[in-house]
Amino acid sequence: MAQPAASPMPIARELVRLDARPAGKAAAIAEAGQLLAAAGCVDAGYAESMGRREQAANTFLGHGVAIPHGMGEDRGLVRRNGLAILQVRDGIEWNPGQIAHLVIGIAAASDEHIAILRRLTRLLNDPATLQRLFTTEDPEAIIAALGAEPAAAPPGVPANDLAERFDWVVDYPTGLHARPATRWVEAARATGCRIQVRHGEQAADAAALVGLLQLGLRAGDRVTVSAEGRDAAAALARMRAAITGLSAQEKADAALAAQRAAAPVRGWEPAGRLVSLPGIAASPGLAIGRVHVLADAEAAIPDTPLPLAEGGARLEAAIRATRAQLTALEDDTARRLGPGEAAIFRAHAGLLDDPDLITLTCQLMVEGHGLAWSWHQAVERVAGGLAALGNPVLAGRAADLRDVGRRVLGQIDPALAGGTLSDLPEGPVILVAEDLAPSDTAGLDPAKVVGLATAAGGPTSHTAILARTLGLPALVAGGRALLDLRPGTQAVLDGSAGLLHLDPGEADLAAARAWMEAQQEQRAREAARRAEPAVTRDGHRVEVAANINLPDQADFALAQGAEGVGLMRTEFLFLERGETPDEEDQHRIYRAMLEALQGRPLIVRALDIGGDKQVPHLRLPVEANPFLGVRGARLLLRRPDLLEPQLRALYRAAAGGGPLSIMFPMVTSVPEVIALRAACERIRAELGAPEVPVGIMVEVPAAAVQADALAKHVDFFSVGTNDLTQYVLAIDRQNPELAPEADSLHPAVLRLIAQTVEAATRHGRWVGVCGGLAGEPFGAALLAGLGVAELSMTPRDIPAVKSVLRGATLAGLRDLAARATACGTAAEVKALEPELLAMTRPAAQEAA
Ligand code: PEP
Ligand code: MG
Repeated sequence: MAQPAASPMPIARELVRLDARPAGKAAAIAEAGQLLAAAGCVDAGYAESMGRREQAANTFLGHGVAIPHGMGEDRGLVRRNGLAILQVRDGIEWNPGQIAHLVIGIAAASDEHIAILRRLTRLLNDPATLQRLFTTEDPEAIIAALGAEPAAAPPGVPANDLAERFDWVVDYPTGLHARPATRWVEAARATGCRIQVRHGEQAADAAALVGLLQLGLRAGDRVTVSAEGRDAAAALARMRAAITGLSAQEKADAALAAQRAAAPVRGWEPAGRLVSLPGIAASPGLAIGRVHVLADAEAAIPDTPLPLAEGGARLEAAIRATRAQLTALEDDTARRLGPGEAAIFRAHAGLLDDPDLITLTCQLMVEGHGLAWSWHQAVERVAGGLAALGNPVLAGRAADLRDVGRRVLGQIDPALAGGTLSDLPEGPVILVAEDLAPSDTAGLDPAKVVGLATAAGGPTSHTAILARTLGLPALVAGGRALLDLRPGTQAVLDGSAGLLHLDPGEADLAAARAWMEAQQEQRAREAARRAEPAVTRDGHRVEVAANINLPDQADFALAQGAEGVGLMRTEFLFLERGETPDEEDQHRIYRAMLEALQGRPLIVRALDIGGDKQVPHLRLPVEANPFLGVRGARLLLRRPDLLEPQLRALYRAAAGGGPLSIMFPMVTSVPEVIALRAACERIRAELGAPEVPVGIMVEVPAAAVQADALAKHVDFFSVGTNDLTQYVLAIDRQNPELAPEADSLHPAVLRLIAQTVEAATRHGRWVGVCGGLAGEPFGAALLAGLGVAELSMTPRDIPAVKSVLRGATLAGLRDLAARATACGTAAEVKALEPELLAMTRPAAQEAA
């Protein structure tokens, strides 16, 4: 059998045919085959094999390029590697709607395919060059474009910079990790120019996330950023502003992470001699529990070939569904843990945009592999490459990529999703895993899992950040020895020292417990009284409720001291599923929530879709400014098919008993409320259901300003400070750059809340707040002082909020709130916080 030469793929001049005019696809394949045979690359029969290949799989790569090649079993016909290139200026139809201008016949042993396809990938990402090759008169241009290996710049020769350039020294303390890199990609794409980032001899297209991350940039690295294209100088200036504009936030994040990691814990040491596995401290605190080793989610991925067109369509659908899932997760995490943590999932969605991943998957499918197998391989190759660079920043990113990869795999075939977090034993559990995906960490049940230890990962990984936010002690990079632990082993995890102490004796366990108790004294004091009402020292009670979306979150909320649910965001029922839940499904969920609350009040918010909460399967028209578009109540009034089943489900649930209220989001005007109430009343009457209180969110300035007019038509108001802040200050709530300025303590926001309360009180209506400000102790205190009757928040925030209210007097809070609304800036408002502490400290000391 002829052995293919091991040399790089040659492109001989005689193998390039300019302005070829084959009669059709079959003729083009035959012509490419003849060229290869004439040059001695293949034996006779290879052209025929190329034709057969085309019957089995489509070799159209996209962007006007097709890559016909022989069947795998005919590799023996390849005498030496070679490429034959037909330039077809007018194009030929490869498949309906697919026009090929470059037909690249490949003769290669299997491994060589990958190298060729990698070169083509670069070209596919560079449409301008590709267009030139479609019409060039110069064969050398084609040879040069296809001949060079993209990442293989010879040692010592730096990649070429583009026309305009600037140098920059990375000053992000944790290097260029996925979140800032996502912003770079967004900025680069927005310029419309080609932007390149070069570090030494390695260069990456700034519009491709994985390539950027592969540069492995650390703090102190010098890079050259260059641009070419229309108005490249201005584009580069915008890029520079985007890059340097992130520095302050990155530094602040790193300082906060360091502060949190170093925070309250100092040196617990076991008295006995224990076996202790070392890792890197990732989230402080001690945890005592039994080890549960998470089974390797690596299921065997079947390799079932399918037609390329079908594979492409299914890949696209899986990516689209994953993107929707990530949006839901981002939104939910933003509400539960904060926008900083939620940004992780936007970065994940950015990974899905990366052309390298998609192209590599397509290339593998072009080779005849199945969709799931190709995707998995592509993810593993890119993630493996990141992990192997020995750079801790990149090691953390490999976990992100695998997390996204697993999600897409789950969409391709649910049986391949992996993940074994559903069968955790009863807690308390110290979860041990190779690495934990950020989305798994965000979704951990805090009632069961008390600590995390991962074999891989780094201290700046998103999993570590989430663990800190969740208050879960964690260590990372503990090595594979962790995975060999016997499940059920008793252990003490020290997330401050980065140690997992095994089989502690009774004395050590007792000492660890005592230590934990001492550390958590303050928190315990708050928590101990979390079930008691929040009554100020002068006897004023404020209702404290939880923001939860699903019935199975109710137990935790009640255990944290929730007195009901002040906000159930029903859009998550739509966002998380990828399909519209029908009336029956919704009824079941609302009933389950009422039952889980055991007679406590439940406020269900009707669908708030639009703005940042896009539901792809509803296929709503794309809007230029979705936050100012058909959102919330506006959508409900236009879509009875969404409003009516929801109202029917709600009234049926109310008929089953339990204090249920309905609340409408994004209301701007009296006629909207009248129309919504009319729909409620019609459906209630049809069902013979009881009347329920109907309220509205106050999150648009118009609603606050006109609260007196609206109050005549509603039973209550609940202020959404997240949106109210956004609309009052004209700051997109998702814009991380402006996040510090989007402060709900801005006096303008506080004044509108004060105005709402005054108007509502005149009409005998009550006002709650269910936006983020309600869950911050200082914010909650001011709101109570403004006369807000109910505060609804993330369950975890409840004990601290109740504690601060109990420590204050209503008179003191009123005085504080009046001074806050008179302040000129949010900073001046914040400067009042020590006065609140002074007011509450004597009470706290008393309680102690
Ligand atoms: C708000 O806007 O404050 C609010 C509670 O609603 P959401 O965050 O769901 O928009
Ligand atoms: Mg809102």
